[in-house]
Amino acid sequence: MSEQEQKEIEALYTDAHHWHINAGAETIHAKRLSGRFRTYKWYAASLWISFFILPYFRSEDHQAILFDIPNRQFHLGSLTIWPQDIWMLSLLLILLAITLFAVTAIAGRVWCGYFCLQTVWTDAFTWLEDKIEGNPIQRRKLDAAPWSLQKLGKKVIKHLLWLLISIATGVTFTAYFTDAYQLWIDVVTLQAPLIAWVTIGFFVFFTYVFAGFMREQVCFWLCPYARIQSVMVDKDTELPTYDLARGEPRGKMRHNAGAQKGDCIDCRLCVGVCPTGVDIREGMQEGCITCGMCIDACDSIMDKVKRPRGLIRYASRKELSGESLPPVLKRPRVITYSVVLLLSIAGIIYGLTHIPPVELSVVHERQPLFTQMSDGSIQNRYTIKAVNKTPQRLTFRLHITGLDGVNIKMPDGDIITLQPEGTIPFHVFLRMKPALLKKKKTKIRFILESMNATDKLKIKKRSVFIGPAT
Ligand code: SF4
Ligand code: SF4
Repeated sequence: MSEQEQKEIEALYTDAHHWHINAGAETIHAKRLSGRFRTYKWYAASLWISFFILPYFRSEDHQAILFDIPNRQFHLGSLTIWPQDIWMLSLLLILLAITLFAVTAIAGRVWCGYFCLQTVWTDAFTWLEDKIEGNPIQRRKLDAAPWSLQKLGKKVIKHLLWLLISIATGVTFTAYFTDAYQLWIDVVTLQAPLIAWVTIGFFVFFTYVFAGFMREQVCFWLCPYARIQSVMVDKDTELPTYDLARGEPRGKMRHNAGAQKGDCIDCRLCVGVCPTGVDIREGMQEGCITCGMCIDACDSIMDKVKRPRGLIRYASRKELSGESLPPVLKRPRVITYSVVLLLSIAGIIYGLTHIPPVELSVVHERQPLFTQMSDGSIQNRYTIKAVNKTPQRLTFRLHITGLDGVNIKMPDGDIITLQPEGTIPFHVFLRMKPALLKKKKTKIRFILESMNATDKLKIKKRSVFIGPAT
């Protein structure tokens, strides 16, 4: 490749005036073609079928996946995650974010092109549109035609089907927060609570508007990921790229093959199939969601004109400029992301396998730090909260260690009974004779010891006992 050609490729990545974004003034009617990446897109989209099915699975006596907000519990199969274990959610969010960064560093916006619910739902909506109103040329003609019974019929059927998908989406989202079967009964009998109607309405509205009307505009203007992708990709990132050196100078097919220098016959099929209206020949652009539809389109043209496939292909800047590409696992970004990813996975696995059956919190009362009783003894007050995360009733005895001669005062002696998946807050008063206190501040431990014969639970919590200065 000549130096001049290399400079031209570089310019396409940096020259902002090449960028073109359809700001919503025109509706993009992308042509649908079969091909390798279209098939991948269908496979990826079919994973979303599980989204519609999962709320109906049961585990033990509850829904297998349930965000039980009123009871502040998250059920995942037989696991119950409590607010105290919410740190795992932070790790999960880090895991998801880093996975997204790592995938973007390797292959650009694969998430957008294949998995994002906005693009997947839009693809489903436009597939229906294609079936009802015809191909892009027929759709444009229909849009421009005056209203007739036929036009009205097609539009009504299309919007009804879009609404049906939106309703199914809205109810399914809501079903992750309440019993899915009961929700359907309540919806069908119009007995659902107000909060359920509001949640369903919210998701129905935004599914219908985003996937039916705004489509690629959501990616352009609402999604922050599109804005920050430029800092996640580098020269090693493989993106759908037009091979400028091979394609240019572009020109219509001519019978005199000798006059045709580049492989691009300027058929514009790659633009016609693009769901975001991008002309990939103008270089990497913000609107490109790396769906690969232009690759399928161009490959089909190359087959027809008997030229090798890959005029548009997944390629990195390094590859196009003739440099060798380092192996994926030797790239600094990928190494960094992988380390964070592995740490997050290890943290989540540790968290899930070490969820304590009982959570204990002890707060030492600060106002006042201690009280001198009429008999001269020193009293400290503690607020205790015990959470039983198991489905069994548990009974514990409370001990204090680190303070010999302490007297415990509680509502029911030193016995605590925790109902299944129940929480109990209570106060504990510790009293000491001043003569036995060796220090102003003594480190102590609250210990809950199970009285159930079947388990040997022992939960410890650190605190302090404070007395007057000695
Ligand atoms: S330019 Fe190609 S890869 Fe990018 S969004 Fe359009 S069709 Fe998809
Ligand atoms: S589909 Fe291929 S040949 Fe046709 S305009 Fe696009 S790059 Fe050129």
